[in-house]
Amino acid sequence: MKVLVPVKRVIDYNVKVRVKSDQSGVDLANVKMSMNPFDEISVEEAVRLKEKGAVEEIVVVSIGPQQAQETLRTALAMGADRGILIKTDDNVEPLAVAKILEKVIGEESPELVILGKQAIDDDSNQTGQMLAALLDWPQGTFASEVILEDGKINVTREIDGGLQTLSLQTPAIVTTDLRLNEPRYASLPNIMKAKKKPIDEKSPGDYGVDTAARLSVVKVTEPPVREAGEKVEDVSELVTKLKAKGAI
Ligand code: AMP
Repeated sequence: MKVLVPVKRVIDYNVKVRVKSDQSGVDLANVKMSMNPFDEISVEEAVRLKEKGAVEEIVVVSIGPQQAQETLRTALAMGADRGILIKTDDNVEPLAVAKILEKVIGEESPELVILGKQAIDDDSNQTGQMLAALLDWPQGTFASEVILEDGKINVTREIDGGLQTLSLQTPAIVTTDLRLNEPRYASLPNIMKAKKKPIDEKSPGDYGVDTAARLSVVKVTEPPVREAGEKVEDVSELVTKLKAKGAI
């Protein structure tokens, strides 16, 4: 089985996000960027399936600026086999990402595509679902367990109040949730080996996809600053203060 894993370069999850003074977006100047954490989980899952012998080849693909090549190298160091960089400096919205991925899938014919459930920069949670719709493929979203069995993909999903297991026919789309696995750190020898793995360079135009924005951001603001707490001596003081504030 061939697996395709789309990986996005996003602001590192440890970075304290600063909003630009004109409220047009988040300040990305001199900010550490990394692979979207959910995409690390997708790569890890694909590598584990390969280690179990269920997968022969893992292709990673990223749509983004030249530096997204580093994100692909990280995935290659974790165990992916080759990469495709679709180079653009535009901010590509989920629908355009899904349309490009649809074309890549047309060329690569993977039986399984594993995406993150969401990118932590735009928090869209749309690409996997849009891709499944464009391809008319079955989808198992928010996967907390993926098992390949008898040519089917069994996906366990965490839903309100329990777990749901779906059995998907291949080819299929899976999106990963936090509890699926804990991604490995690439070892130094694997980082060195990854430098020799091939990365193809393309552009959205090569796939005939228009990446012009369909959405316009009205404004981006910082969350309100949290007020300092107050210490109280006992429950009755707490109740009195809450009543005074009209909270109860
Ligand atoms: P989103 O719908 O933007 O929250 O993203 C969901 C998932 O789609 C991500 O976890 C990635 O697997 C994939 N994805 C989104 N944007 C890109 C991109 N520019 N390049 C590669 N994969 C992407």
